[in-house]
Amino acid sequence: MKLPKLLGLPDTFDPDDRRRRQILNIILALFIAGGLVSILATFSYGDSFNEIIRDQDGALILLSSVAVVVIFTLLFLLNRWERAGSLAGWLFVLSLVAIISISDVPSELLERGLIVWTLPILAGGIILPPLAVFIVASIVSITNLYIAVMLLHIATNPYAIAMYFVLAALTWLGMSIANGAIRTARMEAQKNAAILDGVADGVVVLNDEDQVVLANPVALSLMGSGLTQLASQGKGQQELRGRVLAFEWSEVKGVGRVAIVRDVSRQMEVERAKEAMLGVVSHEMRTPLAAIIGFAEIIALRNDLATTFAERIRVNAQRLTYMVNDLLDHAQMQAGTLKIRHESFSPSSLLLLVKNLLSGLAEQKSLKLITDVDPTLPDLILGDSSRLQQILVNLMGNAIKFTDYGEVRVSCRRMDDEWQIIVQDTGIGIPAERLPDIFEPFRRGSDYATRNHQGAGLGLSIVKKLVFLMDGRIEVQSIVGQGSIFTVTLPLKKVND
Ligand code: ADP
Repeated sequence: MKLPKLLGLPDTFDPDDRRRRQILNIILALFIAGGLVSILATFSYGDSFNEIIRDQDGALILLSSVAVVVIFTLLFLLNRWERAGSLAGWLFVLSLVAIISISDVPSELLERGLIVWTLPILAGGIILPPLAVFIVASIVSITNLYIAVMLLHIATNPYAIAMYFVLAALTWLGMSIANGAIRTARMEAQKNAAILDGVADGVVVLNDEDQVVLANPVALSLMGSGLTQLASQGKGQQELRGRVLAFEWSEVKGVGRVAIVRDVSRQMEVERAKEAMLGVVSHEMRTPLAAIIGFAEIIALRNDLATTFAERIRVNAQRLTYMVNDLLDHAQMQAGTLKIRHESFSPSSLLLLVKNLLSGLAEQKSLKLITDVDPTLPDLILGDSSRLQQILVNLMGNAIKFTDYGEVRVSCRRMDDEWQIIVQDTGIGIPAERLPDIFEPFRRGSDYATRNHQGAGLGLSIVKKLVFLMDGRIEVQSIVGQGSIFTVTLPLKKVND
């Protein structure tokens, strides 16, 4: 419930004190309004001021109404003064006791009027600190005692006094429980707020009407008034006020939606610089490597002791060239500059070419290298044959690398409007827990078998990206000790389509 501004109090007050004072403000405002209505009613009969005060009842009603308005307005103002503490509350309770004392003849006050005395006790319980309710019960009892003994010369009613204290105890108990619950809720809220303030990421909460209900300081410093310009769904990156922000939305039942926002501008810059450097360096390394390979080949022709060394230089320089090419491809893919061509080529010729390239390697390990092409596959299809060759060399190269006995089988199969390249080996296999990882760049197996083979761990990540650029997909099945099957599925684009 929202209080009108006049009845509310600044946040600087102690929260318990503030709550009590706000209730007192409401009670005082009601009394003041009542007093004003009573003054208006007195004049509403059309009698002049002189006529009203000449009549004793009229004068008393007017006087008490004016007193209520004046005294309670002063208390209202006092209650808004931060340093007044519970003074206004005490003065209000005392004035209630005083008003009740003079509201009727003494004998009536101790008989039919007994119930009215519970008012200050209840009010005290609500607007004063908890234990003060017993002091109010004592004041009421002493007033009762005074009226009975001093004014009426009779004994007091002990049941009434006992009832006042029972009421005080019940009020105290109720208020203590309520205060405890409020304090726990407040501490919980403060704890949550402190956690949110301390979070390094921006947190924004929207309600069901897409209004911002909460934004932590990081979110405000990242977006300020641009909070509502953040894409309001899903997960992604967005440029806002010159920064690149990564965000992720999630639904929170009963609250609305919560976004976690992180400034990734610096990270993006570093990433871009890294990729650019990788691209430049690998490009520049290719020319000297080509020269080394060329001259090593010439020296190898001499047929003397230098031949063996020259051959080693050539093999190692060749390996380095493959790695540099992989790095360059990786950098180009990251930068989005690698393009896929669409030209006609023959799948069976491509397979034969790769088989010839790798048969030497397979023979060295006494592995059978088997290829078969589905006869229903068209002779010519559209695609990027050199990139497909790269995919085949990588997959078949791995299959040969990681197989010591048996065979490597490569098949091209036709599906409806797709075709598949399946590379199957009888090698060491890949443990299930590593399968999700192998397509990530620079991830290599840490086992002996893998470490034994050279490679940067880029091959499969490049294959995956190439397949993706060709609108295809790649899947792997593997059983440790039995072998692996890599299946690449690509859209079938016929030449005359
Ligand atoms: P690299 O071959 O340069 O290490 P790849 O990206 O080509 O990098 O392969 C990543 C890892 O996946 C390899 O290190 C290896 O552990 C595993 N792997 C790939 N192909 C096979 C395969 N046919 N059999 C067993 N393990 C494989």
